[in-house]
Amino acid sequence: MAAPDLFRRRRGKGSLTIAGGRVIDPQNGIDKKADVVIENGRVARLESGKRLTDKQIEAGRGVLDARGRVVCPGLVDLHVHFREPGREDEETVVTGSMAAVAGGFTTACCMPNTEPAIDRQEVVQFIYYQAEQAYCHVYPIAAITMERKGDLLTEIGELKDRGAVAISDDGSPVPTAAVMRRALMYAKQFDLPVASHCEDPTLAAGGAMHEGYVSTRAGIMGIPALAEELMVAREIELAGETGGHAHICHVSTARSVSLIRDGKRRKVHVTAEATPHHFSLTDELIPERFDTNLKVNPPLRTRADVRAVIRGLQDGTIDCIVTDHAPHAPEEKELEFDHAPFGLIGLETALPVAIAELVTTGKLTLPALIELMTSRPARVFALDAGHLSPGAVADVCVFDPEPVYEFEPGRFFSRSQNSPFCGRAVQGRICQTVVEGVVVFDRQR
Ligand SMILES: [Zn+2]
Repeated sequence: MAAPDLFRRRRGKGSLTIAGGRVIDPQNGIDKKADVVIENGRVARLESGKRLTDKQIEAGRGVLDARGRVVCPGLVDLHVHFREPGREDEETVVTGSMAAVAGGFTTACCMPNTEPAIDRQEVVQFIYYQAEQAYCHVYPIAAITMERKGDLLTEIGELKDRGAVAISDDGSPVPTAAVMRRALMYAKQFDLPVASHCEDPTLAAGGAMHEGYVSTRAGIMGIPALAEELMVAREIELAGETGGHAHICHVSTARSVSLIRDGKRRKVHVTAEATPHHFSLTDELIPERFDTNLKVNPPLRTRADVRAVIRGLQDGTIDCIVTDHAPHAPEEKELEFDHAPFGLIGLETALPVAIAELVTTGKLTLPALIELMTSRPARVFALDAGHLSPGAVADVCVFDPEPVYEFEPGRFFSRSQNSPFCGRAVQGRICQTVVEGVVVFDRQR
């Protein structure tokens, strides 16, 4: 959707006081009313005790009025698909970054399943070149194997030198254990996480939704939970043996959660992420709506799986929330359920869906949710982001936690509109997003 007046390009570094809000900075254990003072693109300090009066806030230049709002570190997403290079009709680094900042995200890590794949230095550099025009920080994740074909490893060290923050063949699994084992060994030398899309291709082949009672009744071929769980078990064993860091992408089943919990107990270097759709939607919605925006990989699972994913978020088994933002052109999603591509957009809906599903229901406190979307993901990929310590890059999200509303189809800032969350009550609205002290998104403009 074109509403460019809400957005401002990042030009240099800003100075600004975000005044009067409830500051939640989980990494520093802060949850209090305070002013965030930003100087030259960095957090200078927090000042509490009503340094600015209401009058000064209203009249102040260089002051952002955050009274009644939550002020937290900018959200960090370890898993987005910005489709560039190759499918710029669906999304680009720049349009994806607009969706990101409209959703409160200030850092997005983009997956390498592009055309060509992010499997060599020039493509990593290309992403950074495009990211110069982006509204937030965009970091490339490089491929594990050349062209993501699953056999020849990429030049992992060189890709890291150019700024790749992790490696992944996401969209596809690494089919053989031998290749994944070598990837974990090499990546370990360069301190890079290996993010795994866990899916046994022989079990998942031909499936369009979760295999179970609902798929049988709907007459749609299923993807068994086991397709994910076998690979989760494999990655944990390989990480344990090699000492490498396996990061499990988009965990969707109860058994996956318990395998990861067990791996962590055994001190294996395994981390994991979950998406809002996997903790809020189930396969039961599919025969009700046959909405292809509900077709996603891994598929929406059962209520028991949703409960287990939430428990994993509660007890720290799952380290962070990511969106798996996957834009698709309407002509592709308008196909029959069996033939439509997998994926949905998630950057603009993530926080309001998470507040409605997890905080309003009492499953997580608001600071615990924010931690799962800021400092925790930042730590998984060792990014310098996700907190408001003095000297930190001043990336900030300001949101109103109260309003309950519904997203409307066709009104997303992403170049694609394939969201299953329209017409569903969500809570909380992003007001402003600040990157390096510059207000890059302001809904009130
Ligand atoms: Zn994936």
